Amino acid sequence: MKKVTGLLLLFIGVLLLLNLNVAHRFHTESTQIKPGTLLLMADDWNVNNWYKYKDSFEKYGLKLTFYVSHIHTMDSMRLAKLRVLQSEGHEIAFHTLNHHDAQKYVQANGLQEYLKVEVDSGLALFRKAGFTTKAFAFPCGSYASAYFPSMRQRFQTLRLNNFPLHQVPYVEDSVKFIQPHNFMFSCFALDDAYGFDQAKLSSLLEEVQKGETVALLFHSIGEDSPWSMSEANFRTFLMLYASYQVRSETVSGFFKNAVVDCSGSMD
Ligand SMILES: [Zn+2]
Repeated sequence: MKKVTGLLLLFIGVLLLLNLNVAHRFHTESTQIKPGTLLLMADDWNVNNWYKYKDSFEKYGLKLTFYVSHIHTMDSMRLAKLRVLQSEGHEIAFHTLNHHDAQKYVQANGLQEYLKVEVDSGLALFRKAGFTTKAFAFPCGSYASAYFPSMRQRFQTLRLNNFPLHQVPYVEDSVKFIQPHNFMFSCFALDDAYGFDQAKLSSLLEEVQKGETVALLFHSIGEDSPWSMSEANFRTFLMLYASYQVRSETVSGFFKNAVVDCSGSMD
């Protein structure tokens, strides 16, 4: 009997230790979330380019979030391609109308004008074109917390990032989502300008495999621009993604499914 009790206590002890370890790993800014997700995001207006690679996204089970600006300049073919991407499980998220630096725009024109032109008029075109997104990203990583209340009335998640634009070599950065709690994840930009680093990418995917959530960002694939990821690097990314057997999710999909424990949240 003593032996059984001892074994039982040992079993409970092991369970407690495992639980502590898991709780530690899943901890993200005072909030517990569902673990092990890759958030792959592409920004701006490179619709034809993204569409060219949609079969690869599908083959590898990747669900991307495309943060799109300049919808008013897109012809019906591009809009149709975005709709196909959305129907295949990707998210078409909003990245303002003209991709202005928000702080500069607000300084010159005021917040109400920013909301009217850059947000609401663009969002109306988005809705008319069939996009149901609740996710937003500030262009150029430019924002001020004074915009948040108005923006939160319009979107469920606001993406804030401070990528070292035009800074070479790449410096590790993070991305923050407000929705309404603050989530901060490691983020790695895949564009050539940042200096693609296979070892760094591997270590981040390993973190995802262990239960962390990591965000990756690019603008396009295989274009002759520093703000594009080379075709070879894209293939390397796909190979690594498959070898680590992690899962990817859209931003809204991730937060919808995230198990949020707000106890101890600081915001
Ligand atoms: Zn952008």
